[in-house]
Amino acid sequence: MCTLCDEGRLSRRGFLSLAAAGVVSGLAASAALAAPAAVTTVTADEALARLRAGNERYVEAPALCAAELLQRREQVATSQAPWATIVSCADSRVPPELLFGGLGVGELFVARNAGNIVDTATMGTLEYGAGVLGVPLIVVLGHERCGAVAAACEAVEKGTRFPGAIGALVEAIVPAVRAAAGRPGDFVDNAVRESALRTAARIARESGIVAERVGAGRLKVVAARYDLDAGRVEFLS
Ligand SMILES: [Zn+2]
Repeated sequence: MCTLCDEGRLSRRGFLSLAAAGVVSGLAASAALAAPAAVTTVTADEALARLRAGNERYVEAPALCAAELLQRREQVATSQAPWATIVSCADSRVPPELLFGGLGVGELFVARNAGNIVDTATMGTLEYGAGVLGVPLIVVLGHERCGAVAAACEAVEKGTRFPGAIGALVEAIVPAVRAAAGRPGDFVDNAVRESALRTAARIARESGIVAERVGAGRLKVVAARYDLDAGRVEFLS
């Protein structure tokens, strides 16, 4: 069974039932979404500092990034209190736990897909992390030479169409690509940055649960870009 589903005092089923009943909306969300038993006490700024320090460790001393997997697994087997949510690309070279310093199980709440887009399922994931698990920070993490973004650039430049569900995924990135077109510098990299920034802004704008917590100073949403060559994460906002 997914531990997410029986986590905390308000289960996912309960959360969805409240939402369906109209209980979870606007300012009522914070009261309706009871926190799990062990919410993190880490603030958004502290979470950002941890991520920055972890990425520095990953770049400068990767040998120190071995996670204590057995110990951590036992600690979080029955509850979780993640302190940052990462929306990252499915690219095999961009594993958030590793590039933020070898973080163990139970620390990051992660949503991944090609192009780090935020569709309905991902938005629901972010809302669950913020509203139920009390995660204080959301990072939209784009990366250098992203294949999904490059495909969206190709779609704009050459009119290329992609088969199956890939087409819809690429289409979600196209507005950022169009906005980045014509800027000086590398087209794909400019689009990577624009897409991450736009997605971060959209999360805060379109999700009432996220917006309410951002307004209350309990949550930050930021964009970042991972450099495949240097291993560094650059925070963009
Ligand atoms: Zn990618």
